[in-house]
Amino acid sequence: MAPVLGDEMIGSDFKISGAFKNLYNRQLTQIYEHARNLVSLRKELIFHHPIAQSLHHSIIMQLLDGKLLSEQIKAELAAEVEQIKMQGGKIPHLAAIIVGENPASQVYVSSKIRSCEQVGFKSSLVRCEAATTQEELLAIVQKLNDDPDVDGFIVQLPLPKHIDEEAVTLAIDPKKDVDGFHPVNFGRMAQGLPAFLPATPMGILEILRRYNIETSGKHCVVLGRSNIVGTPISILLSRKGYPGDCTVTLTHSRTQDLPAEVRRADIIIAAIGIPEFVKGDWVKEGAVVIDVGINRIPDESKKNGTRIAGDVDFESVAPHCSFITPVPGGVGLMTVAALMMNTLKACKGEIYGR
Ligand code: NAD
Repeated sequence: MAPVLGDEMIGSDFKISGAFKNLYNRQLTQIYEHARNLVSLRKELIFHHPIAQSLHHSIIMQLLDGKLLSEQIKAELAAEVEQIKMQGGKIPHLAAIIVGENPASQVYVSSKIRSCEQVGFKSSLVRCEAATTQEELLAIVQKLNDDPDVDGFIVQLPLPKHIDEEAVTLAIDPKKDVDGFHPVNFGRMAQGLPAFLPATPMGILEILRRYNIETSGKHCVVLGRSNIVGTPISILLSRKGYPGDCTVTLTHSRTQDLPAEVRRADIIIAAIGIPEFVKGDWVKEGAVVIDVGINRIPDESKKNGTRIAGDVDFESVAPHCSFITPVPGGVGLMTVAALMMNTLKACKGEIYGR
């Protein structure tokens, strides 16, 4: 009986995965139990039951599938690289510098290098010891600035404490700054001029665009004001055009009554670095939720005793949303895809010419 009720209410484009599957199953059992207690099993009665209504909200929720989109983007890039090769053009070349042994940084850099291979880009990885001095690192940056074969490069952050990240970011040639962290690119972005957009906000825009999510006139609440996510995405979504034209509220650690601010949002972008911080009762029905957070938390059910959690409490938030990104499988993969898009733009001279 329960599966019949589920089939009637699921709809064709509903996706069940991970934590949401548990939530869905729990709600389905609940509604089935209640339905069994009803004298009549008429469909209208079931649909108007409060639990059915709450299940209905869950059902219209759609996962924003970063894995699927990033694969689509990489396939598009690979096709373009094939064309370039056939025409004898220059193959895009991304270089990455990593300093020290930070395990998360190792994972991020490897995934960037792997993505280069997938799309047919050339890649170079410069590994530096944790004890590398700032002068030595700046010399490597200069070498990559001067190398005509390297179209773009990144310096994986965070850097060891003895190195000034700002000095290193400033040393990167803005024409090769495919992470979009240099103030020249940031300023150009803010003024709506062609620029390398920072990869994570660019990945978020790509999610909104590819899922045709309406942004014009919407109220977007951004949590977190970092230079690489919160601040740039708040600027980008308030710009004229699509995806943009939002009214944006940028919130941070000093914001008063954060839940009240978040409740006003049509679009929520969480980038604060606190696991499962945004709760279901902060979220307006039908809101779009973009979870940027990548936090490692203890989980005894996992082999290594930990799991990755976002900044959003998925289980309590998902039933209120129209769209939500999972973690993992959401923004993180789109960040890498955006970096690949920027590298191709750099190779083609789309932002600054060749
Ligand atoms: P950050 O860590 O530099 O800064 C955190 C921000 O959150 C600050 O602006 C701070 O004001 C705000 N904040 C902290 N506590 C708060 C509170 N209690 N209430 C409201 N605001 C609060 O930010 P970041 O570098 O943008 O990183 C945020 C999260 O996003 C982290 O989990 C990080 O790992 C993740 N991240 C993911 C990607 C990706 O590709 N998915 C990329 C970058 C960062």
